[in-house]
Amino acid sequence: MSTAVSSTAAAPPTIPILSGGRWVDSPTKRTSDVFNPSTGQVIAKVPLCTASEADDVVKAAADAGPAWAATPVVERARVLFKFRELLMQRFDEVARLVTREHGKTLAEARASVQRGVEVVEFACGIPSLLMGQSLPDVARNVDCETVRHPLGVCVGITPFNFPAMVPMWMFPVAITCGNTFVLKPSEKVPLSANLLGQLLMDAGLPPGVFNIVHGGKEVVDALLTHEFVRAISFVGSTAIAKYVYETGTKHGKRVQSAGGAKNHLIIMPDADLDQAVAALQASAFGCAGERCMAGSVAVPVGDVAEKFVDRLCEKASQMTVGPTDTGAEVDIGPLITAAHRDRVAGYLDVAKKEGATVALDGRKDLPANGFFVRPSVVDMVEPEMQLARDEIFGPVLSVVRANSLERALAVGKKCPYGNGASIFTNSGYAARQFKQHFNAGMIGINVGVPAPMAWFPFTGWNQSFFGDLHVQGQEGIQFYTQQKTITTRWFATAAESHADPIWRSK
Ligand code: NAD
Repeated sequence: MSTAVSSTAAAPPTIPILSGGRWVDSPTKRTSDVFNPSTGQVIAKVPLCTASEADDVVKAAADAGPAWAATPVVERARVLFKFRELLMQRFDEVARLVTREHGKTLAEARASVQRGVEVVEFACGIPSLLMGQSLPDVARNVDCETVRHPLGVCVGITPFNFPAMVPMWMFPVAITCGNTFVLKPSEKVPLSANLLGQLLMDAGLPPGVFNIVHGGKEVVDALLTHEFVRAISFVGSTAIAKYVYETGTKHGKRVQSAGGAKNHLIIMPDADLDQAVAALQASAFGCAGERCMAGSVAVPVGDVAEKFVDRLCEKASQMTVGPTDTGAEVDIGPLITAAHRDRVAGYLDVAKKEGATVALDGRKDLPANGFFVRPSVVDMVEPEMQLARDEIFGPVLSVVRANSLERALAVGKKCPYGNGASIFTNSGYAARQFKQHFNAGMIGINVGVPAPMAWFPFTGWNQSFFGDLHVQGQEGIQFYTQQKTITTRWFATAAESHADPIWRSK
């Protein structure tokens, strides 16, 4: 028996899974390394569980289902209130663990945990959120009402880039709706998920309502096809998001599947340039560019381009880059793995081959250890180039110059993704044209990262999302429940049917 997260042993510990309320050591010999990306050191090992272990965990979740679904909604909410309290008490510990296994700066880690807390706060309102509708007298002596029921076992499969926040997009809403939940965290960042699991148990969540199984494709496939699994929430790259959507729906599951992104930020000539540059800098290079809402393509319009590129390169070159777990403050941390760093850095060679101009090369003066790339800016990118099309997922910003707003909108139309996009302008006309016509699901006006907060859905479009109902907000409630409509005919005596308490009362 292990604890949820232990990291002090000399040899990196292999972390347990959480099944039916117990931390269980997986019998599998197959493991994957969990790195501290700031140093490149292995800090833990994660078991790559088998399909049969995934089956056991789903069965534990199914066993816990009936009692949890029958628990009054107010009591379910109270467990979440307690979870929130514990989360706030141990907020810094969670944030530091996110930093340790992912590499975000502590400020970024804190902000990401805060976004997750907001989903918990949203889910604490579940008694109101779950209310149905009713209409008396839809026909003579007939009333009609709708109510929402839980689905059963729900699964969450999450990416590496937000180890605590993305799981919290899902399970607080799923479990307060009366479902039980199996989380399959990214094998690159499994530690924060285990800590959240421990906090849920400490909050009094009954055994089996929240479970964690670790692993890769074998476990994911077992979950996507399991007869007891009713709904799947996925967040990750587009290729896997599509695969999860197709496999899950083929096996009769409800699926919401969020994929990758290539987000455009348009800078109009009338924009407040200082504000726009600061917002672009934070959007493109914050979290080392490993955000699905990161600005990835800047589109300066008209003669603002020269000034914009110069000023952005000047500011970006002053950003400090380094380890995030030493207590020293830096602006940008490492990328998740050595392989990912090499892939990201490789795009600067691709840029040169494609004929673009590397205006700021982030491969110089890097820390000796860890997986770093400095902020990089590639100018004179054309929409057809890889730099404008591929999700790079690192601190590399492509600049596609446009001579008009219409041309800038056309650049967006060519993009196969559709997560977020922003415009920087003082013109109401430009802002309105942009919000009406840009080809993406989350729009910002003078905002660098237009990620909606917990009360609004996270509405990616095109290859950035597969499914109908998104995470967060009311759509989350709809996704994790099924609606029932009840029509009732009441039989009244002749005397009762003529009783008229309102109109004739004194
Ligand atoms: P990923 O697709 O590699 O992994 C996501 C999850 O899928 C992990 O749990 C992983 O174990 C699993 N997985 C990986 N390969 C698989 C396979 N062949 N079969 C079955 N399961 C598999 O994504 P990542 O690299 O961890 O995360 C980064 C990606 O996530 C980026 O593309 C980013 O844009 C995207 N993302 C999107 C959103 C959004 O809301 N749209 C939010 C965060 C991250």
